[in-house]
Amino acid sequence: MSTLVAQRFLITGVVQGVGFRPFVYRLATELGLTGEVGNSATDVFVTVAGPPRTIHEFTARLRSELPPLARIDELQQVEEPDARSATRFSSFTIVESHESSGARTLIPPDTAVCDQCVAELNDPSDRRFGHPFITCTNCGPRYTIILDLPYDRPATTMAEFPMCSACEAEYTDPTDRRYHAQPIACHDCGPVLSYTGPRGDTYEGDPIERAADALLGGEVIAIKGLGGFHLACDAANTSAVATLRSRKHRPDKPLAVMVDGLHTARDFVHLSDREAAELCSPARPVVLARAASDPPVAAEVAPGNPLLGVMLPYTPVQHLLFARGVGPLVMTSGNLHGEPIVFRDADAVAKLGHLVDGILTHDRRIEVPCDDSVVRVVRDDLLPIRRARGYAPLPVSMPFARAEVLAVGGEIKNTFTVVSQRRAWISQHIGDMENLETLKAFEATSSQLLDFHRTTPEVVAVDAHPGYSTTRWARTGCLAPVREIQHHWAHVASMMAEHRLPPTSSVLGVAFDGTGYGSDGTIWGGEILMVDGFGFERVGHLAPVNLPGGDGAVQFPNRMALAHLHAAGIEWHPRLPSLQPLGEAERTLLHKQLETGLGCVTCTSMGRLFDAVASLIGVRHRISYEAQAAIELEVLASEANASREYRFGLADGVIDPAPVLTALVSDVFNGVAVDSIAAGFHNAVADVTADVVKRMLDQHHFDAVALTGGCFQNALLLERCIDRLIPLPIDVLTHRIVPPNDGGLSLGQAYIAAHQRPQQESS
Ligand code: ZN
Ligand code: ZN
Ligand code: FE
Repeated sequence: MSTLVAQRFLITGVVQGVGFRPFVYRLATELGLTGEVGNSATDVFVTVAGPPRTIHEFTARLRSELPPLARIDELQQVEEPDARSATRFSSFTIVESHESSGARTLIPPDTAVCDQCVAELNDPSDRRFGHPFITCTNCGPRYTIILDLPYDRPATTMAEFPMCSACEAEYTDPTDRRYHAQPIACHDCGPVLSYTGPRGDTYEGDPIERAADALLGGEVIAIKGLGGFHLACDAANTSAVATLRSRKHRPDKPLAVMVDGLHTARDFVHLSDREAAELCSPARPVVLARAASDPPVAAEVAPGNPLLGVMLPYTPVQHLLFARGVGPLVMTSGNLHGEPIVFRDADAVAKLGHLVDGILTHDRRIEVPCDDSVVRVVRDDLLPIRRARGYAPLPVSMPFARAEVLAVGGEIKNTFTVVSQRRAWISQHIGDMENLETLKAFEATSSQLLDFHRTTPEVVAVDAHPGYSTTRWARTGCLAPVREIQHHWAHVASMMAEHRLPPTSSVLGVAFDGTGYGSDGTIWGGEILMVDGFGFERVGHLAPVNLPGGDGAVQFPNRMALAHLHAAGIEWHPRLPSLQPLGEAERTLLHKQLETGLGCVTCTSMGRLFDAVASLIGVRHRISYEAQAAIELEVLASEANASREYRFGLADGVIDPAPVLTALVSDVFNGVAVDSIAAGFHNAVADVTADVVKRMLDQHHFDAVALTGGCFQNALLLERCIDRLIPLPIDVLTHRIVPPNDGGLSLGQAYIAAHQRPQQESS
């Protein structure tokens, strides 16, 4: 018999509420090891005793057979100093939690119902056959039902549903898949569904059947999901989709479609292996992919847009609806235009009642609202567009953080970040802050997350834009001293944070976005910045132009186009597509504005240049949702068989679009195909990006290049830039965890504020 040893591990990561301890228990028991496993405040501790080889196998399988929702961030191994401990245990046990007031373990995100639960859902002999709230330790709601940490049933909205004895038996049996599954329920003890009219009056009959009939009949209904209500209708029914659009006042913005499985999804979109994997992942995001040639959906779902957002069912209720034969469903966030997602039943009636013909709801409360996440795949890597359900609030570790921080993010696509215990907890997508309701949601969610982590911020990091609602909120809230952080510096810092770079590393940031407040009081957005965690230097930028009409002008790409032509000294030829929407008087006024600069803002935005080009080639002159023109330009370019060649000017770090615009306008007049113009423009931006980086490599030292800012949601632009940068002797960083758009700002702000040098080192 070989010698017995004991070994102790401390494990940090997502290890609470995800079936981690029973997994350790089962593994140790199967291998015949003795010892114990338990939660401490900051980690899970495991002691195993047995032959060294078996312990080795145990650690290997600990990593390789991890439960689907668990994540090991760190596994520290310490040999038990006391040799007797090897024989101290007679069996392997799960010991009670030692809760302390210190740090908190990770809050798990919500997860799609797992395959085993779906199999039981469809099995007439299972006691949970057809149960709309079936779940186990590997799946189901987490973050959205949590009232407090540690994550335990009494601290969730499931506390209102006392377990029946059958559920209790599963819950307390370490060998059961439902051991300590906090949201566990069944027909006898769990929440119940109901189907109501738009005013909340309950309808008799099977709620699933009622809802399925409504959907099949072309009605628009609200469905309560994990993190809020969806508005749903039959995606193949033209009039149903049109009704939903007109009721929601959403003329063009693409709607996400839910289909019953991967196989069906392939009828709707072309999916690479990676895209298919993301679609099926436990996070179940909306995957934006290229639409199939003739997808079986109404054209109104994504008008004029060859990309389609597709997702798979992730709640038992959605599976039950598909089992009733409903077709592909439009599933869009249940909210009023510009407002956050509705997640309380009373609000569903008050705010969504006039939009819908019925409401499929239930009596399990949603505590934390959370939208669907949206992702793209670029060069086989995940590119987050909207980070919410399935990902939030998983943190990024910040080994060098010195301060506890609340970073409030930006104005649109807002998220916030809490830095506590050297981790940055990034909130789910909150929304666009110009709306009072969104600000309220921001307040509620941020105080929730601060409470969960028992954090009192020492500094509140804000965008430097004095007009941002979040900046004003931080100033009036007096939570802690406010630190202003320049918008594009924050974008680049978000990249440093997610790639875990220390604040002393230097990064060349290519920050291309719509608009951000510049250090000189003008609007920036085509920035080349030398960045570290402590400061930045603006080493290059797009040539500034006067933009007429301030922020409202964003709606009118044709005004951008004319402003750019004016700045480039290109005549406004009467045949220009961009002039067509304007009357004579408007043209004169606009021209005068640009001449005098009166009512204009100076701007170096790359996003606005994309808008300008979209208008110049006649693609779009007025937009109804953010980045619409740029998205349409991308789509056009990605379908081109040929591309024109254009070159930006580049001198002293200033990127001059004049030569591109001159050549492009002449191509428009010569009737060159617009798709090849669009493709040529994308190439030109990528070329000049590479040129800038090459020149900076000669002049500066830096460790990596970061491609960030909202323009890099454009998969084609991102790909083309990477293609040209890869051959250079420098690392190229792209976003995998937070979006390149303003949804990532708060992480960057948090990174900078958490690493600030103490005010007085000596005191
Ligand atoms: Zn499950
Ligand atoms: Zn039960
Ligand atoms: Fe931005």
